[in-house]
Amino acid sequence: MDKISKEKRSRNMAAIKAKNTQPELLLRSYLHRQGYRYSLHNKSLPGKPDIFMRKHSVVIFVHGCFWHQHLGCEDAGIPKSNKRFWLLKLKSNVERDKKNIKELKKMGYKVFVVWECEINRKFKNSLEKRIRSFLK
Ligand SMILES: [Zn+2]
Repeated sequence: MDKISKEKRSRNMAAIKAKNTQPELLLRSYLHRQGYRYSLHNKSLPGKPDIFMRKHSVVIFVHGCFWHQHLGCEDAGIPKSNKRFWLLKLKSNVERDKKNIKELKKMGYKVFVVWECEINRKFKNSLEKRIRSFLK
């Protein structure tokens, strides 16, 4: 049973920082259980990938659906106030992501993008399958 009140939960949500988000931790513990070893937020790689598996030449980004504009996702809606500001800001995030991914691929890495909504809502079935087939 979920005993946390709504107010408390929204305070908790606000306290979650950009790094080490809950979905990211979920994914990390999953990978760890599967026996994968990785380093985190590698600063020497474009975009500081959340997860870097040197042995497999794999980088994984865990993207927040809003900040990275997950296409067609209900969590990626643009706020109604300051719309112009958000459109520009989010567009530049998306362009930066594209550039980083392109560079990483050029460097020979396989790039896997995981969306937070996938971890939150579909982790047990479709995402897990997607990860397993990617890492094969
Ligand atoms: Zn999403």
